[in-house]
Amino acid sequence: MDGVPRQADIAIIGGGVVGASVAWHLAELGAEGIVLLERGQPGCGTTWHSAGNILRMSSDPAVADFYTYGKEMLEGLHARHGIGWRRCGRVMVARTDARMAEFDNIARVLSECGVPVERIGPDMVAEKLPILRTNDLKGALWSPDDGRVNPTDLVAAYLREARAGGARVCEGATVERVAETNGRVTGLRTDRGDIACETVINCAGLWARELGLRNGVAIPLWPVEHFYCLTEPIEGVRPDMPTFRDPDGLIYGREEVGGLLLGCFDRDAVPVDPAQLPEPFEFALLAENWDQFLPYMQEGLHRVPALQDAGIRTLVNGPEAFTPDVEPLMGPAPGLNGYWVLAGLCSAGVTRSPGMGRALARWIVEGDPGADVSRYRLERFGREANDAANLQRAVRNAPSGHFAAENRA
Ligand SMILES: Cc1cc2nc3c(=O)[nH]c(=O)nc-3n(C[C@H](O)[C@H](O)[C@H](O)COP(=O)(O)OP(=O)(O)OC[C@H]3O[C@@H](n4cnc5c(N)ncnc54)[C@H](O)[C@@H]3O)c2cc1C
Repeated sequence: MDGVPRQADIAIIGGGVVGASVAWHLAELGAEGIVLLERGQPGCGTTWHSAGNILRMSSDPAVADFYTYGKEMLEGLHARHGIGWRRCGRVMVARTDARMAEFDNIARVLSECGVPVERIGPDMVAEKLPILRTNDLKGALWSPDDGRVNPTDLVAAYLREARAGGARVCEGATVERVAETNGRVTGLRTDRGDIACETVINCAGLWARELGLRNGVAIPLWPVEHFYCLTEPIEGVRPDMPTFRDPDGLIYGREEVGGLLLGCFDRDAVPVDPAQLPEPFEFALLAENWDQFLPYMQEGLHRVPALQDAGIRTLVNGPEAFTPDVEPLMGPAPGLNGYWVLAGLCSAGVTRSPGMGRALARWIVEGDPGADVSRYRLERFGREANDAANLQRAVRNAPSGHFAAENRA
């Protein structure tokens, strides 16, 4: 374990997939004096129980470019360290003509960006995913470059290379507050001593908002319960099987140890107050909530008839931070020089970690993120958006909005 230094040039708060990627990219750009502070072990927050699906589809060219870079980066890390990368592809199915029209738009944009994507019919869906019911489908979008990783291995790989590039990684170090004088960051107070430092990056996941409030920085995000269930092995569910999404049913799925991982993006999601989580909340989950998951289990039973006879291993319920407009928060904190934020990844933090980690690192080191990141800036929200009651109301529709936003965005 690295000791906590008394002085640093750039301090990253949080060693989830986001903080780890930022550390990697800062080191890659040649930044010196990087220290990452993680109060538990890297990946112990939300990252360890992520489904680890890596997306390629977006109808926004800037996002598509992020994802293209992400795929290349993850393939490289996998070749060097083994992060469980599998390029299994993804089938996104449509139940309606309106959904197919959306898919046409995505296909057009992605083709212009050089991303392989294909519109396919129900017969081809059945060929790629024989476990799916297809007789009610209008068609689907096939993305051969989608894949999956093991998120814990990804964090370890990011940090191994960041350390090789000179970054310090301090585990078991809690940041208590960021010190400031006259609107400028001057350091951090940790439970293992103070650090003098003029640039800090808040990558504290669902805890980022509360940490921000200690300096009057508004980081409007709030976690909600977020689910997937895992089944016992099912015949026909193969490790090389493509992942799938059924946005009209708000469900997604993939293989996991021979069984099915069936996840959802639920309506009227259940907000989780970070202050009510047990301390420490490391490698921890929330209680199973079958009442909330039931409608999506029913959608799953419809889409994958073999689920009917499958044994259920568990319902994984973990908190994930969403923002009111279902877009991440990235950039400098208005009004406090030297304070940067990357948080609120809205259930795509593993996918987004390479592209957004690189953009933030470039912004800090080179003064320019190298991409249009205006949609992520903190100042897009007024201060009232950070009110706890407003946030809890707003994020109820965020997970289901995520599917719409992703397909539209
Ligand atoms: C059920 C589920 C399925 C998901 N599936 C996918 C998927 O398939 N694909 C995908 O891309 N994304 C997925 N996600 C989302 C993804 O897991 C998250 O967006 C991502 O892990 C967030 O990473 P993070 O680094 O922001 O947060 P975290 O992983 O929570 O990291 C934040 C870290 O900060 C530390 N910390 C907090 N406060 C302090 C402090 N004061 N001092 C020091 N350290 C501190 C915490 O201990 C924690 O380790 C899923 C999420 C869930 C819940």
